[in-house]
Amino acid sequence: RKNGEIYPKAITITAVRDDQHRVTHYVAVFRDITQRKKAAQEIHQLAFYDSLTQLPNRRMLLDRLNQSLATSSRNDRHGALLFLDLDHFKTINDTKGHAIGDKLLIEVARRLISCVREGDSVARLGGDEFVILLTDIEQPVNAERVAEKVRVSLAPVMMAEGHALYVTASVGVSIYPDHGIDAAVLMRNADTAMYQAKSEGRNMVKIFAPEMNQAASKLFLIESRLPAALENREFVLHYQPLVDVTTRRLIGVEALIRWCRDDSCVPPDDFIPVSEESGFILQIGEWVLREACRQAVAWQREGLPPVTVAVNLSARQFRQPSLVEQVSNILAESGLAPQWLELEITESTLMDMAGETLRKLRQLSAMGIRLAVDDFGTGYSSLSYLKRFPMDKLKIDQSFVRDICTDRDDAAIVSAIIDLARNLGIEPLAEGVESEAQLHALQAAGCRLCQGYYFSRPLPAEQVPALLTAGTIC
Ligand code: C2E
Ligand code: MG
Ligand code: MG
Repeated sequence: RKNGEIYPKAITITAVRDDQHRVTHYVAVFRDITQRKKAAQEIHQLAFYDSLTQLPNRRMLLDRLNQSLATSSRNDRHGALLFLDLDHFKTINDTKGHAIGDKLLIEVARRLISCVREGDSVARLGGDEFVILLTDIEQPVNAERVAEKVRVSLAPVMMAEGHALYVTASVGVSIYPDHGIDAAVLMRNADTAMYQAKSEGRNMVKIFAPEMNQAASKLFLIESRLPAALENREFVLHYQPLVDVTTRRLIGVEALIRWCRDDSCVPPDDFIPVSEESGFILQIGEWVLREACRQAVAWQREGLPPVTVAVNLSARQFRQPSLVEQVSNILAESGLAPQWLELEITESTLMDMAGETLRKLRQLSAMGIRLAVDDFGTGYSSLSYLKRFPMDKLKIDQSFVRDICTDRDDAAIVSAIIDLARNLGIEPLAEGVESEAQLHALQAAGCRLCQGYYFSRPLPAEQVPALLTAGTIC
């Protein structure tokens, strides 16, 4: 252009001839194709890059992976795929809003890029899933090192619109050619390893191993059978007594779900996390609540002395906007008076989403329902923080009770929790009491309420009336 700017231009040149077919002129027609170039560029960007983070998308990643697979097989080199999924990202998105979720993803992208070399690729597959392609590594162990570096790089606080957020990620690694020479297989294996990292507690790196496929197919099997299990009435509730140890009186029972089919029972730890992940927990949880209330009323109608029935609520269930309404409908349907229902919420659920949680808890508490913090001591909350919630009971996690007689730290922690809970007006209960020695230690620390195999294992519903009639347990 006149101002010196360079622009792309398309020219068509046509020769003009006279009667003897001699060229006399050329006519050049040109067009400024800046717009067209820009559009093509945009299409390329849209087709191969993620619009939020500007990282390569799945298509681009696969393209680069295939290229890398071709060259590495020629040169006898290794490469690796790191599959990364943020832990509990959905919670952040749901509670803090999508704008903040987006900012967080952009920051994650930035940190991931800073961990890799030029020539490696960081891609976003969508949602909170990222993949890193390491194209040339000397030894497989280097891939693990980079994966660890990536995991650690996410640890420092991230700021998004004034919110301080902490994210962790689960990372699965597959290495080529060791774990496959085909893009689809490598992607699947890295994903499997990532899933394994999730199920072992998140915020960790796992390298793919062939055994993982078996574990993954077991999970898949469980997940795919859950919906039918509800229809076929394969779930049952067992009830475990809660005991006042000073009088040995039975003060309540906790409903614990069992999945029983063909004579074998799948324990809740095997299917609750899976159903939490898939969302099916909402249906299971509603069934548990309804069934526990129905059973409590049935016992009362038989003339048995009424006791509290405690029901566990999962994090996902608790996040439902309609939870309070659902609970109140179920109480009304079953005819159970609210004071006989206790809802158990784990410490980590409480800490997840303070504002919304507080509102729901106040509503439930105002209805007369009792509230308990479950597995206390496993999260990161302070007791003074708990003061804000209208909790009635605090269940000390079994991991502290287990070693109370042998580990002085655990004994000190339990006794501190008991004292502080008391001062806050919350009744402490020790979970997982298995021996007389533990019971004595707990009593010495001032704990009045206990639950555990020492008193009784969780029992099928038909064995509960005898306990209720006796009223005490030894
Ligand atoms: P939780 O709520 O902390 O329940 C107590 C768990 O400890 C139960 O395991 C119980 O059987 C076990 N337990 C009780 N006394 C002892 C003892 O003395 N020693 C040992 N080692 N264990 C003891 P269970 O029934 O396998 O349930 C595991 C977890 O699954 C529960 O932990 C709860 O978080 C979850 N869960 C169970 N039922 C439901 C449900 O209906 N809904 C939801 N969302 N979660 C449930
Ligand atoms: Mg519980
Ligand atoms: Mg517990």
